[in-house]
Amino acid sequence: MGGECSPPFSKREDASRLIMPEWYIGLVVFIYGAVVGSFLNVLIYRLPRGLSIVKPRSHCPSCKTELRARDLVPLLSFLWQRGKCRYCGARISWRYFWVELATGSLFWGIYWRYGWSWDTLFYVLFAAALIAAFFIDLEHFLIPDGLNVFMLALGVARNVMLIAENNPQAWVVVGGWKLPYALVGAIVCTAIFATIAVMGRVMFRKDAMGFGDVKLARAIGTMMPLNLALLAFAGAVALGAVVGGALVLFTLKQQPSTPAPSAVGSAPTVSPEPLTQMLLYSLAVLVALDVLVFLYDGVRSLLSPGKSSAVPVEEEEFVPGLTTIPFGPYIVAATLIALIGKPYVLSLWNAYWRWATGGG
Ligand SMILES: [Zn+2]
Repeated sequence: MGGECSPPFSKREDASRLIMPEWYIGLVVFIYGAVVGSFLNVLIYRLPRGLSIVKPRSHCPSCKTELRARDLVPLLSFLWQRGKCRYCGARISWRYFWVELATGSLFWGIYWRYGWSWDTLFYVLFAAALIAAFFIDLEHFLIPDGLNVFMLALGVARNVMLIAENNPQAWVVVGGWKLPYALVGAIVCTAIFATIAVMGRVMFRKDAMGFGDVKLARAIGTMMPLNLALLAFAGAVALGAVVGGALVLFTLKQQPSTPAPSAVGSAPTVSPEPLTQMLLYSLAVLVALDVLVFLYDGVRSLLSPGKSSAVPVEEEEFVPGLTTIPFGPYIVAATLIALIGKPYVLSLWNAYWRWATGGG
C-alpha cells in the first residue's frame, strides 16, 4: 500500500534547514496555504459558473471595481475591511475568509504530518482541490470534472514517482499480480461508490448519489493507501449521519409551518436517470472514459476559444429537497482528517479490528 515517499532532498541540504526553527517553517507553509486559499476562492466562484479562471482580474461582484494588491492580502484584507468592499461597502461572504484560513491550516497540518517530503507537496495540492470541491458541492450540488481529473492526475503522478524511486509501496499484490497501488485504489473505490449510486437508485427510486461523488472517490483511491481511503469513506458515512441528521432536525424545527411530509417525501424536480444509463456510466468512470472526454473538450476549447464547451450550472437547475444534503463535503472532511491523522486513524482501526475479531 502506498505510504510515505522518501524525502526529496539529501541529508546535506536537510541539515541547513535546522537553522530555521520549526515554527517558522510552519508559519511560512501556513502563509503559502492562505495564498493558495485566496486562489481557491476564485475557483469556487468561477468553476461552477463556467467562467474563465484566469481572464478577468478579481473584482467586487457588487460594484465591479477591480481589486488591488492591498485588497487581496489573504485573511488580513478581509479582517481589516471588516468583511466589506472597500469601494462600495457591499458585504463580502465569510466564505472567503474561511477558505483561506482552512487552506492555510490544512497546509500546515500536512507539513506537520509528512514533513519535508514529496508527499507533503502531493498532499497539499490534493487538499487544495478537496477544499474547492467541498465548497462548490455545498453550494451547487456538483463537483466540477476539472477538480476530479486534477486529483486523479495527481494520484497517478504520485504512483509513478514511487515506482521511479523503487519504493515497494508503489505496488500491491492482488492474487499473485503485482499492480500499481493507484490503479487498484481507483478501481476498488469507483466500484464501491458506483454500487452505492446504483443501489440508491434502485431502492429509493431517485438519485441518492451523484457521479461527482463516484469520481471523487476514484481520485481519493489513487492518492491514499487503500485501507486509509476505505476508513475515510466509513468516516464520511458516520459524519453524514451525525451532521446531516442534526441539520434535518434543525431545519424541521426552523420551519414548523411548512407541510413537512410533502417537502420531505417529494422527489427532486429532476427525474432520476434510467438504470441502464447509470450502469453504463459507472463502467465509463471505471475505465476513466470521462477523463478522456474531459481532456478532449479541453483541447477543443483551446483550439477554438470562441466556443467554450463548458456547461454553465444554470443549464440544469437542481432544486434540492429539504433532506437533500450533498455527500461530497462529508467525503472531503473525512479524507482530510484521515490524511492528517493517519497514524491515529490506523491505530484506532487496528484496535477496533482486534476487539471485533476477539484476538489479542
Ligand atoms: Zn464593491
